[in-house]
Amino acid sequence: MMDYEAVIGLEIHVELNCPTKMFCDCPNRPGDEPNKNTCPICLWLPGAIPQFGYEALEKATLACLALNCEIQEKSAFDQKVYYYPDLPKGFQLSQAHYPLARNGWLNITGEDGQPRRLRIHHIHMEEDVAKLIHEMEGKTPVSLVDFNRAGAPLIEIVTEPDMRSPHDAMEFVRLLRTQIRYAGSSECSLESGTMRVDANISIRPKGTGQMNTKVEVKNMNSIRHVGDAVAYEIERQKTCLAEGEEMTMHTRLWDPVKKVTTAMRGKFAGPCVPDPSVPPIVISREWLEDKISSLPEMPAGKAERFREQFGLTEDETSQLCTDKDTADYFEQVMAFPVPARTATHWLTTQLMPLLRERGETLAVCGVTPSRFADLLGFLDRNEVNANSAKEILARLFETDLPVKAVVDQGGFGQVSDASELEGIVARILEGNAPAVADYHNGVSKALGFLIGQAMQASGGKANPKIVRELLLKRLSAI
Ligand SMILES: [Zn+2]
Repeated sequence: MMDYEAVIGLEIHVELNCPTKMFCDCPNRPGDEPNKNTCPICLWLPGAIPQFGYEALEKATLACLALNCEIQEKSAFDQKVYYYPDLPKGFQLSQAHYPLARNGWLNITGEDGQPRRLRIHHIHMEEDVAKLIHEMEGKTPVSLVDFNRAGAPLIEIVTEPDMRSPHDAMEFVRLLRTQIRYAGSSECSLESGTMRVDANISIRPKGTGQMNTKVEVKNMNSIRHVGDAVAYEIERQKTCLAEGEEMTMHTRLWDPVKKVTTAMRGKFAGPCVPDPSVPPIVISREWLEDKISSLPEMPAGKAERFREQFGLTEDETSQLCTDKDTADYFEQVMAFPVPARTATHWLTTQLMPLLRERGETLAVCGVTPSRFADLLGFLDRNEVNANSAKEILARLFETDLPVKAVVDQGGFGQVSDASELEGIVARILEGNAPAVADYHNGVSKALGFLIGQAMQASGGKANPKIVRELLLKRLSAI
C-alpha cells in the first residue's frame, strides 16, 4: 500500500472578551437570558448603521501580536454573503480582502521532540452570528433564535497547511490558547465555545508537494477531540483512496460519542463584497507601538528568564509558565526567601491538584503567596516534615490563621531533637528483632520498615533524615 502523509490546516474562531459587541454598545455576554442584549444594530434591522468599537481592535491586535503576526496598517470589512436562519440580514461583516494581520507563526515541539515552526497565513476580525436553539414545544419541534451572540467580536486565525499529524494540530491549538490567554484577549475555551476549531484535512503520497481535495471537519469540543477527529479523518481518507473513491470537497461533523465524522449539508456561500458602512481601519505607528509595549512577557521568554534567574529546568519552567496565573503566583512566592525548586515542586504537585479538586483558582484561594512561602519556609528549615506540610496546606484553605499558628495548634512541629528521637529509635530496635536480623542479613527493605515504625511511633512528626541517621548508627553497633 502506498505511504501517505496528511496535510492539515486549521481555521480557528476566537471570541474576544470585550465588554461590548463589535459594532454596538450591547453587552458581550452570550450566556444571558435569550435576546436580552440586543439593539437595532445587532438585531440587524434595516437602516441601522454599525459603529466599529475600539475595544475589539485592541484585543484583536494584542492576540495577533501574541501569534507573531504582522499587523497591517490598513484593513477593511467586507460583507460575506450567505443565507441562514442565524444570519437574517444575509451577510456577515468579516475581513475577506484586507485582514488585520498576516504572516504569523508558532513554534511547537514536534513528535520527534524537535522544534517545528507552524505558519499562520492571516488573522481577520468578524462579527459572530446569532445562535439557533432547537427544542420541542409539546410534540412540535421548534427552532428559536438567540441574538445575544449576534455581533459578538471574533477573530479568525487561518493557518498554512503546515501540520502533518494529530499531534501537530493539538500542540498548535494548545500553544495558541496559551499565547492568547497571556495577551488577555480571550479564555479560548473549546468546552464553553469561546474558541472553535475547524480542521481542513487532505492526504497525499509521502514526499510529494501535491495539494489534494480537502475535507473540513467541525464540532470538536476539546483539544483531545481535535486530535481524535483529525486521526479518524486521515484514516477514513486513506480507506477511501484505497477503494478507488474520489475525494469531494465537503464539511463533516465530529461525533464525540461514536468517534466518527459524518458528512453535513453545506451552507450556501456567496461572494464577499466591500462593506460601504464601516470605514477602513487605519492603524498608526504610535498606536501599534503602544500595543506592542503593553503586551505582557510571553511564556517562552518567561520560561527562559525563570531558567536563568532561578536555575530551574526546562520541564519545571514549562509546568510553571503554561498558565500565566501560575507563573505570576510563583514569582510572588519567590519574593520570599524560599528555594525555587521546592516552590515549583510544591506548587505544581500539591497546591495545583488541591485547587483542581476544590474547583478553586490561585487568584481567589485562601493560600496567598506569602502564606504558601511561610509554609515552605517551615519545611525548608526542617521545622515540619513533608507529610505534615501537606496536612497544613490543606488546613490553610479552611482558616485565616497565620501558618505558625496552624503549625502550633496542630502540633505539627517536627521532632529533630536527637535525645528525644534516640529514645524512640532504641524502643523500635528492641521491639523489632526480626527486622533487625533481616537488616544484618542484607534484606534491603528492613531499614525502610524500621524508619516507618519510628515515624509512626513519633506520631508522624519525627525528622525522617535524623531517624535514618540514628538507626544506621545504632544498627552498625549491634
Ligand atoms: Zn446591539
